[in-house]
Amino acid sequence: MSVTQNKLKSSKKPFNLLSIPFIKRFIQSKWYPGLFQWIVLMVFSVIVFELVAGTVNPSRNFGTSMTWVLWWPIVPVVFLLLGRFWCAVCPFGKLSDIIRKVLGSEKPIPKFLKKYGIWLIDLFFIIITWSDHIWGIVESPRGSGYLLLFLVTMVVITSVFYERRTFCKTLCFLGGLAGNYSRSGALELRGTPEICKTCKSQSCFKGNEKVEGCPMFQFVRTMDSSADCNLCGNCVKTCPNHSIRISPRIPTSELWGIKKPKLEHAVLAAVIMGIVFVQNITMLEIWEDILTVIGSVTGTENYTINFTIAFIISMILPIALLFGTAKLATVIGYPNKVKDNFVQMGYAIIPLDLAGHLAHNLFHILTEGKAVWYNTLGLFGFSAISTNLGFAEPTTVQIFQYMIILFGLIGSGYTVYRIGNKGTLKKLWPFFTLMLLLAAINIYLFSLPMAHRVH
Ligand code: SF4
Ligand code: SF4
Repeated sequence: MSVTQNKLKSSKKPFNLLSIPFIKRFIQSKWYPGLFQWIVLMVFSVIVFELVAGTVNPSRNFGTSMTWVLWWPIVPVVFLLLGRFWCAVCPFGKLSDIIRKVLGSEKPIPKFLKKYGIWLIDLFFIIITWSDHIWGIVESPRGSGYLLLFLVTMVVITSVFYERRTFCKTLCFLGGLAGNYSRSGALELRGTPEICKTCKSQSCFKGNEKVEGCPMFQFVRTMDSSADCNLCGNCVKTCPNHSIRISPRIPTSELWGIKKPKLEHAVLAAVIMGIVFVQNITMLEIWEDILTVIGSVTGTENYTINFTIAFIISMILPIALLFGTAKLATVIGYPNKVKDNFVQMGYAIIPLDLAGHLAHNLFHILTEGKAVWYNTLGLFGFSAISTNLGFAEPTTVQIFQYMIILFGLIGSGYTVYRIGNKGTLKKLWPFFTLMLLLAAINIYLFSLPMAHRVH
């Protein structure tokens, strides 16, 4: 290889944030991620207290506005920009670390959870969304508080018995979402293959006398996905060979070449799309009309029955559309089995999932965001309340929503193109059409007036 070729090759190395001394020193220090974890844990404690003991008026409750107006809209932005970093500072994760240190028996993760964890996450995600609509968890400070306490209980139980972050890896519904979205994220942590392949210590996985091994059960040497890396920095601290790099990357690029695509990830991607549909539909003014139509078929006005039917249809619709598209592609000669098409192209839905989630919650943060400020002041005894809680008019928000969906469509469309087998571009049209259809449904839903979470 010529000198010029060598230069070209080395110039293609991804930029490593750890090559900036200040960042490397900070991540290697005991302050990272502890400093963020303790701050988040303290705020979380106040939020839970306010949810279970504060006012039952959601519009005036600090916990409700912090959780559903601020945190829930911001967390997907974090996944997009920083991958799964939220999980490094999440109060459940910190709580798990503390419990394990004090009481943990550090048993290996059960085989059942290892094998079916992501399916359980899919299931929990569906159950929590369903329960929210039946019992109004988001609208009820107490409901939100009890949900958080329920999750805390699960964290405590799993941490008493099992090693590392078993809860985060196999049971946390947000972890499932975080994993899928982080595949689209703009940051990745990886090892340097030439260094890792000769490494005998493997301390990134095993840990050392000062720092525990990867809490997310990742072995950096073989890690090729950001779905389960929460950027906790443990491997940066423990790797004796300075092999780790943290690099910016093109959002969605990980999706272009998933080595071992899994059915459960594809199903989760489709289910998230269904959940975004449900979240949007139930906040629209036509929701009552939809319920009436379903009621005329079921012959009852029972909300639980009629909502459950709408919910099931919304969940099944994207799965059925993806399956139908996979089948159609095979029929027109795309060189894959239907199941392989379903699983591979399921990943291409993720950018649109993320866009739908971002666009939906943009409405809340931009039209209700001041509630966070007023309710924080209220916490300190100042009663500052305004009837105008928004930073922007709903029509302005809609323009941003359309733009976000357009970016999601570009991400999904380009992912289809990259996943597609070489020389089969013409036979990819069913998948491009599917992405267009999902984007069009989202745009239609965002074009309708939405209801507020707080007033
Ligand atoms: S990241 Fe470090 S500790 Fe882990 S395998 Fe590579 S060189 Fe070894
Ligand atoms: S791979 Fe490294 S940064 Fe990622 S979760 Fe494991 S120890 Fe933390």
